[in-house]
Amino acid sequence: MFQSSASLSRPLPIVPAADDAPLNIVLFGPPGAGKGTQADRFSARHGIPKISTGEILRKAVDEGTGLGAAVADTLRRGALVDDGLMNRIVRARLERPDTAGGFLLDGFPRTVPQARALDAMMEERGGLIVIALHVMADVLVDRLAARGRSDDKQSVIRERLRIYARETEPVIDYYTKRGLITVLDGHYSPDVVFQSIEAAVARAK
Ligand code: AMP
Repeated sequence: MFQSSASLSRPLPIVPAADDAPLNIVLFGPPGAGKGTQADRFSARHGIPKISTGEILRKAVDEGTGLGAAVADTLRRGALVDDGLMNRIVRARLERPDTAGGFLLDGFPRTVPQARALDAMMEERGGLIVIALHVMADVLVDRLAARGRSDDKQSVIRERLRIYARETEPVIDYYTKRGLITVLDGHYSPDVVFQSIEAAVARAK
């Protein structure tokens, strides 16, 4: 069909330059790896929202919402919230327009079913850049004990590290097999780790 002159006079669509492609980032790291700090800094620097599922859940608990009541006990124990519920929370959050230029996910996906659900959410949204911070277990326990969050008690810390090894390390394998992930040494100072994240993202873009 011929286009009418009216449609020809419409402004041309803006085609983003390759460099403006959305920055869709997943940041992994065991509890205590400094992931939250790095995520805050990266999202501020790049103007993309940080989506921290832990923060969303803790806020719900503090505000006493229905979601908060449903997850409070799970958070206290350091266990994982149900995949279906987490997938719904993240899907709804990614639908908000502020994610159009990208986003940084902190704390999701934490299980292989969550990673599969994220893949489905990412169809037609461009690729993911996945970064994992590696920190040795002894260092994590020391850092977490110093942090003093309500789920940072010794027994809960150990439970969260066990769950990370059991449920979340397979997610790192899942992305490794697809050649999508960069693993970075998280033992360095926050500034050095931040520079290595910037470099890894620039390479992966
Ligand atoms: P975080 O702040 O990422 O360490 O998360 C704190 C707590 O929230 C975790 O120990 C879990 O109980 C819960 N949580 C956060 N994200 C997820 C997720 N993707 N799947 C299941 N539980 C989660």
